[in-house]
Amino acid sequence: MALPSHDTLVSYPDGATASTGTVLHVEPLDDGLSAVILDATAVHPIDTAWPDQPSDRGVLRGAAGEARIERAVMGGIHDGALLLGTDLPVRTGTEGWTFVVAHLVDGAAPAEGESVEVVADADLRAALSAGHTACHLASLALDGALSDSWTKETPRDALGNPAFDQLAIVTSRIHEHGSIDTYRIGKSLRRKGFAPAGLDDVAAVAARANALLAGWVAAGGAVRIERADAAITTRRTWVCALPEGEVRIPCGGTHVDDLAAFTSIEVALERTDVEGGIELVMTTTARMA
Ligand SMILES: [Zn+2]
Repeated sequence: MALPSHDTLVSYPDGATASTGTVLHVEPLDDGLSAVILDATAVHPIDTAWPDQPSDRGVLRGAAGEARIERAVMGGIHDGALLLGTDLPVRTGTEGWTFVVAHLVDGAAPAEGESVEVVADADLRAALSAGHTACHLASLALDGALSDSWTKETPRDALGNPAFDQLAIVTSRIHEHGSIDTYRIGKSLRRKGFAPAGLDDVAAVAARANALLAGWVAAGGAVRIERADAAITTRRTWVCALPEGEVRIPCGGTHVDDLAAFTSIEVALERTDVEGGIELVMTTTARMA
């Protein structure tokens, strides 16, 4: 069967963990797994360009029985070729490409044209959603904790503070109930007006961030994902009610639906001097109600 010509429709941004879909394409892979592409799915794939939230795991049920979904990756179709995961050279949404979720399954692959059910591991999803929400809040808290370390007018974050997180982040990795974010403070950040002396006492910075986080968790607040339609390429926005107001951050992942899900979110900061600057690692830990 020809490769899909429409972007996969995804329901995980609304919190779904199970869905039915039609098998559009099955491709055997070198490692014995098969890549299965459906018209629609509830399974969250890891993104190629910004791999912050890990893939769901789960099962795929079809006429041939149950196959394990080891992981799901982004696929891109261009000029009659399907490129998967790290082989995909463009960002999701690039013009001229079709973007799909590829379920990498172990076991009997379904037949093209068949209707199948996919079920994501709900416990893993819930833990990653908590980690992702905590990660967003921690980034806002870090920006707030460093807001007086800037000497020039700077792009602002969703709360109106100088956008340290956005300007300095190198990688963001979400895990169950937490995240690890790595920042680099070098010449370019100093040129933008960041005064590195603000990081001389990282324990004090972490304490300020943790005070902000404690206030937000205590207040609770609804969290939702806004999007215009279900295509995986459609831009999605994380919207969270904080005491300071509603904050909006572009986001492709999944989240808890209220900050009341947490009893605490805390960050720890570790600073290392590296050639040409500072590396800062923020470890975020969420505890659930
Ligand atoms: Zn996000």
